[in-house]
Amino acid sequence: MHEHSLVKNLLRQADAIRRQHDAKRVDEIRVEIGPLSGVEPLLLASAFKQLACEEIFCNAQLIIDQVELVARCNACEKQFVIHDFDFRCADCGRGVDVIRGDELQLVSVSLASDEPATTGKTR
Ligand SMILES: [Zn+2]
Repeated sequence: MHEHSLVKNLLRQADAIRRQHDAKRVDEIRVEIGPLSGVEPLLLASAFKQLACEEIFCNAQLIIDQVELVARCNACEKQFVIHDFDFRCADCGRGVDVIRGDELQLVSVSLASDEPATTGKTR
């Protein structure tokens, strides 16, 4: 499934960041999804639930921000938000380049470096 490999990739990135900072856990992973990314937020969230429970990611939250589709006109270079997938410049009617909204992107990772209060549990 598409979302599973995306989540695995996100977890790998988050874990690399965790190791860089020598943190014990990952608390929160924030991603942006654009309308053209082909990623279904609900499927991504459920894939995350299935795959995240490997120690350090067990308590991690996945925060999904859905971003707007932003394009720039090829002719007049005006930037604007695209609605209803109308890929034409609002001003001059020419073609546009999508500059934001066609990807899944890792935005931030929140790390926990201190131990949680001792509860007597081993994990
Ligand atoms: Zn234009």
